[in-house]
Amino acid sequence: MNDRLDINELNQHHKIAVGISSCLLGEQVRYDGGHKRHSYIVQTLGEYFEFQGFCPELDIGLGVPRKPIRLKRNRDNTIRCVAIEDDTRDFSEDLRDCADRQKPWQQRLCGYILKKDSPSCGMERVRIWDDEMSSRDGVGIYAQRLMDNLPCLPIEEEGRLGDAILRENFIQRVFALHRWRAFAAAGFSVAGLAEFHARHKLILMSHDQVFYQKLGQLVAATTKSNLTDTVHLYLNAFMAALKIQATRENHVNVLQHVQGYLKQQLDADEKQELIATIEKYRTSQLPIIVPITLLNHYFRKFPNEYITNSWYMNPYPAELSLQNDI
Ligand code: SF4
Repeated sequence: MNDRLDINELNQHHKIAVGISSCLLGEQVRYDGGHKRHSYIVQTLGEYFEFQGFCPELDIGLGVPRKPIRLKRNRDNTIRCVAIEDDTRDFSEDLRDCADRQKPWQQRLCGYILKKDSPSCGMERVRIWDDEMSSRDGVGIYAQRLMDNLPCLPIEEEGRLGDAILRENFIQRVFALHRWRAFAAAGFSVAGLAEFHARHKLILMSHDQVFYQKLGQLVAATTKSNLTDTVHLYLNAFMAALKIQATRENHVNVLQHVQGYLKQQLDADEKQELIATIEKYRTSQLPIIVPITLLNHYFRKFPNEYITNSWYMNPYPAELSLQNDI
């Protein structure tokens, strides 16, 4: 792993492969011949992500236009995906098989964006019909199989990307998995895993202390002979940790920890300004970008190798402005 590779350099050379429900790209694949182009995804995220669109309903042979389908609850509580007009036409197995067939290319992705509310692609709160009543507690059949097949893959719905915290969490996970893939492509090594972990420690601390401790123990116990098993365990726990929302309280702890690396360098006024800025973040008067920017400013003046190399200070391109809203 190249320890001098920064996030902008990483992006300049490689857009990140991300799967997506193809109607969100503007492809006219919906049952009514329409699309659901999402301009933030296509224009803003498209600067960094190489989207690989896929429509499971087209793949299983339902044409465009087509009769709409929906989730239906059986008397035995099982859920099927059926034609609205004729619920003996059941597409559930076709959609599961379709997801299984896509696994080879999906395994190379670093993220996946799904279309909400779809009986095929919806990730949560999809309407399930029970005679004439409905409830919003379903999951699209293709989406469920995708999540089951690839539990480490960051997956999010386009509707939830409107929430600043969920958006930041998803995009951070995509970039983190991309860095992992770069590490894997360079070849796993005990030293490489230790370095990968060191550069992500502060991010892990902001998400979950328990996972942070466990991953540290796992890395400390890694040897050449257990490396193959360990990297598998590490990735599962690493991605599970990042899926837990980072809290303001955890971020404050991390910011104070980072501030500790400057205690010899800053004068009393500078220290006071930093403490006040972190306090304003703690009380939600400022977004996290403000203390991060101030800290980055001081570390440019007083470089520290551990902090400079930490992805916490630079987790994704600043142009995405994700830290301005959290
Ligand atoms: S939601 Fe999924 S199945 Fe429906 S049109 Fe979009 S890509 Fe196709």
